[in-house]
Order: sequence, then C-alpha cells, then structure tokens
Amino acid sequence: MKQTAGHDQLGKFAPEFAHLNDDVLFGEVWDQEAIDTKTKCILTVTALMAQGITDSSLKYHLQNAKNNGVTREEIAAIITHVTMYSGWPKGWAVFNLAKEVWGEDEDTTAATPQGLSKDFPMGEPNTAYAQYFVGNSYLAPLGDPQLGAANVTFEPGCRNNWHIHHKGGQVLICIAGRGWYQEWGKPAQELKPGDVVSIPPEVKHWHGAAKDSWFQHIAMHVPVEGASNEWLEAVTDEDYDKLA
Ligand code: MN
Repeated sequence: MKQTAGHDQLGKFAPEFAHLNDDVLFGEVWDQEAIDTKTKCILTVTALMAQGITDSSLKYHLQNAKNNGVTREEIAAIITHVTMYSGWPKGWAVFNLAKEVWGEDEDTTAATPQGLSKDFPMGEPNTAYAQYFVGNSYLAPLGDPQLGAANVTFEPGCRNNWHIHHKGGQVLICIAGRGWYQEWGKPAQELKPGDVVSIPPEVKHWHGAAKDSWFQHIAMHVPVEGASNEWLEAVTDEDYDKLA
C-alpha cells in the first residue's frame, strides 16, 4: 500500500513520525507477504473496531476492505462476530459506517467484477468466439496453448450457444460468481465456485452466467486426436429467461 498521509499532513511538523507512518508501518509492515491483502484489511477493521475507533480511519479501512474483495455478506458476518467479543455498541457504530461503504441495496448473491477471481487472470475480450456467444465474455489462456485450458469470464446474462465437443469432452471448473450448465433435453444446473462439470463428447450443451451475476470457469478440453467443436444455435431469451 502506498501511503503518503504522514508526509502530507505531518512531514514538516513531525518528519520522523511521517517516515514511520508511511515507509515502515504502511510500507514494510503492511506489505509483508505472508498474509494476503484481503485478510490484512479484515484484521485492520476488527482491530480498530475492538478498540472502539470508529472515526474516519475505520471508514477508510472499511472502504479498503471492500476494494480488496470483502463482500457485504462477509463484512456483516465479520462485524457480527467481532461484536460478540467487543460489545454491542461497537457493532452498531461499525454497521452504520459499513452501510455507507457497501450501500443497503447491494445484491449479496451476485458477483461483481470485483468479486471475480484474483488468482486467475481475466484476460482479454473474447473476440475470436464472440460470434458463438450472447453478451460479452473474456478469455485468458492458461499454461501451454496446446493444453486448450482457459479461464472464461461471462458478464451477467452472457452465455455461449448450444454446442458439441466432438471426440474429446470438456471439463469446467467453476471459480467465481454464479452460472448455468444445460444439456439438451435436460433441466439447467446451477453452478457456483467449486463445482466441476464433466461434459462428455457428443453431448449438445451450453454454459454461461446467471442473469444477475458475473461468472468464471476454467475450461479444459480433454485432449483427443481429431477433437473438434461444433457451434449451433443460440440459447433463446425465452429459454434463458426461465432460469432464476
Ligand atoms: Mn462446452
């Protein structure tokens, strides 16, 4: 984290304090790599809350927590948990600030671009296959191109056309958001992070995001000699809109 508040506000009055604040505490200590940034943000918020520090510094760290992927659902659970050990009035004070940062009306089930995987790249707009998709998607090839493995990101409402993987099948590993997988003639299956779908060869199917959520899966083709994809008709709005 690049912090200049010390130098900006106290650089002349207390240069040593400014140096310790910006270069050591918010420099070396904040940037240590043994714990990830989201965890550091949560620890900071809980430490301030436990001490009853509910001023602008807490609001700053709540915003920082949101920017680093803490969802409204998570912060609500965190504040509730810390309230158990630090006292009810502190819970109220922090909830009031958190509501200003996250907003009251945010949909907790939907992933936002900020809720997408930080472990895999999102890649570039998927222009090569755009003709076989409804809506915008993004593609980040993973590893050796020969593997045919990629992280695919779908914006809300985006899905690929009905298609068939000939000879080799496909494996989907869901990593973020909420989506759907459907085989021809069968009900659609809801997908969430951690779900793995094995798509057999020669089965007509589609996959994509839910209406109200971004979605990411890693797609891998089962490498078989002579494997190919056959792209078919789009999933109609009528069929897609039936899915909750
Ligand atoms: Mn497929």
